[in-house]
Amino acid sequence: MKFTLHEKNDSFQALIVLGMLLMLCMGACQYALSQIMYREAETNMVEKTVQSRHLIDERIKKYYETLRYVNSVAESQTNSRSELNEYIRKVNPALKDFILIGAVTPQGEMIYGDKAPYDILPVLQQTMRGYEKIQYHCSGIFEHVIVSVPYWRGGRVCGAVYGILNSSAMNSLFYHEDDDSVVFAASQHSWQLGVSSMTIESQQAAHTFFNDESHWNSLSQKLYYNDYGIEAFENADKKWYMVSVAVPELDGWYVYRMLPAWVVDTPIHNVLYLVLVASMVLAVLFWLAMWTLDSNRRESQDKLIRLAYIDELTGLYNYAGLRRKWHTQGRKPVTIFVVDFNSFSALNMIMGNEYGDIVLKKTAAILKDGIDQGEMVCRVTADRFALLMNGEGALERVQNLLEQVRDSVREYTIVLSAGASVADEGGHMNAAYERAITALKYAKQGSNIVVFYDQKMYEEQQMRKRLEEDFEHALERRELKLYLQAKHHLQSDGWAGSEALVRWHHPELGLILPYQFVPLLESTGDIKRLDLYMLKEACRLIRHWLDEGKVVYPISVNISRAHFASKSLVANICMIADSFRVPRHMLELEITESAFIDDAATMVDRLQELSAAGFRLSIDDFGTGYSSLSMLEQIPADVLKLDRNFVLGWERNHNNSLVANVVRLARDFGMLTVIEGVETEEQAAMARESGCDVVQGWLYAKAEPVADYEKRVYGGGSDE
Ligand code: C2E
Ligand code: CA
Ligand code: CA
Repeated sequence: MKFTLHEKNDSFQALIVLGMLLMLCMGACQYALSQIMYREAETNMVEKTVQSRHLIDERIKKYYETLRYVNSVAESQTNSRSELNEYIRKVNPALKDFILIGAVTPQGEMIYGDKAPYDILPVLQQTMRGYEKIQYHCSGIFEHVIVSVPYWRGGRVCGAVYGILNSSAMNSLFYHEDDDSVVFAASQHSWQLGVSSMTIESQQAAHTFFNDESHWNSLSQKLYYNDYGIEAFENADKKWYMVSVAVPELDGWYVYRMLPAWVVDTPIHNVLYLVLVASMVLAVLFWLAMWTLDSNRRESQDKLIRLAYIDELTGLYNYAGLRRKWHTQGRKPVTIFVVDFNSFSALNMIMGNEYGDIVLKKTAAILKDGIDQGEMVCRVTADRFALLMNGEGALERVQNLLEQVRDSVREYTIVLSAGASVADEGGHMNAAYERAITALKYAKQGSNIVVFYDQKMYEEQQMRKRLEEDFEHALERRELKLYLQAKHHLQSDGWAGSEALVRWHHPELGLILPYQFVPLLESTGDIKRLDLYMLKEACRLIRHWLDEGKVVYPISVNISRAHFASKSLVANICMIADSFRVPRHMLELEITESAFIDDAATMVDRLQELSAAGFRLSIDDFGTGYSSLSMLEQIPADVLKLDRNFVLGWERNHNNSLVANVVRLARDFGMLTVIEGVETEEQAAMARESGCDVVQGWLYAKAEPVADYEKRVYGGGSDE
């Protein structure tokens, strides 16, 4: 049987959640890592772009230097303008980057060199004030980049030296390729200038970027706050990055680095992908490890639970297991059946313990097979099983199961009873179980029946509780009365003594008979107090008779089997008899035969002590227990009291040979025989024929108050 008392899903779900948390964590790490890598890539791109800007700066400086050199040579080596022109013309071809070089006064007069192809004065305004400049100029179809430095004479700026860059110089100034990116300088108005040398694809991308206001605005804003900006954009389904830094030398000009996104993204994605795979592998490994640990834990937990909640012999739950399972299954309403063998110990004794175990295993298997899904069965104690059933026709099913169990055991006639009660939703299993046990007691009064707990049982239970509580008072207030039932001596046709039987005169409940409270006192242990109380009453009465000078017939007093466990029993009985100065032979002690099942050796010891002390001993209810006739030899009893069942047996079989045999044997052992429950003359005749010595029964006398007994035995002259 696979045992699952705890919710296995609990830890499994926890593991799933743990796994998910782990994934979430890794996702977050992944995200953080990608942020870091993109930041890194961004810095890298900006860094490279700044380097490109330095390159451009360097070139611009070189042009300034060239023009300053031209100017210094013009100043130092020539005197006249014609000489200068001559010189310029000589050096000009060497300055390949310029289309032309010249110098002009603020008034527009040529100082030397080539004349500009258009009015260049407005472009040179700043230079005339002493600043070196490089500027873009567009007039008509001409696009030019003009480099200019101030023209110094005698420590004063008296004009500007200018050079117009040729197209290849312009290109190499504003455009270069670098790894996978194209780098170009451009202003918002003249971006085509740098773009013209690019591949078609890059040109198209640049067009897309510069023609879209939103890209441009977003980038400008970034530039405004950061000195650099990066913008991603798409062209023809391809992603690009545009990085930009300002060129201070050129008003409104920027260096752009444009590169396809894959150059940046692919390595990052590769790394992220690797990390993702690695972390997933780690997560799975971690999860697997946790799962293994958890299943180990569960296994050992299962083992512990098995020990605590499973009955080893049958493999069924024990009662604790049943309760736990019922609780974990949500305490659904069920009918609890408690199934019990009547006197299983007898089966063990007769057939042996091994056979008993086989019967229990068989029973367990039949009960387990007989229950439906969601129902439960457990072994409560040695020979007691409990079933929790909720299906239709549970009663019939249980009856059927009991039948099956009985049929399965052929070698021995077993008797099974069951008590039943309903456990309500959310109620307590224990309470329902106790009710079923109460019902079981009723069931055991019959044989092979199932009894449901009902109102009557409830009331009786309440009654028992009440009597239990009232008993102490009853002793104190002497509500317990000694009644006497006279015994008749058959041969002499005279009185042979009497039995003391208790009657409770309850102030509220009226007369209460022994069957209503004696078993209760036996279960609580108070029966010992009752025994001693009745013994005292009997002694008091005998003392009274002795004092009155009456012939005293012995009184039998019942001593319950529970009393024999008590070591002080013999001493107590002796003390009571002595305290009333009652000769011990006037007291007969009745001990029920079933008392010998408990601990025969102790019983025999005690009886020997009592016998040695001088009391008469009687074996009561003989024929209801399991003691064999041969056992009588060891018991030092004076009287054998045959149970009323023998009388009832006569009624059925009209044969008294059984009783005759018992009587003969008892006589052989030196015992007197008394037969109980004789109600008719026919029964009395049978008793006589069987050889019984004494008869106790309603034919001669019922249990009656002492006064009535005295009238019966001593005649009307009594003063009681
Ligand atoms: P018991 O010791 O076997 O007592 C005999 C019972 O049989 C008595 O019932 C008696 O009234 C009843 N009886 C006698 N003759 C007849 C008859 O002809 N026909 C029928 N049907 N019954 C007859 P009672 O007094 O109700 O006592 C029942 C049992 O309660 C006793 O059985 C005894 O076991 C117990 N008991 C009674 N008084 C005491 C007591 O003082 N101490 C103890 N320990 N047990 C007591
Ligand atoms: Ca008795
Ligand atoms: Ca009896």
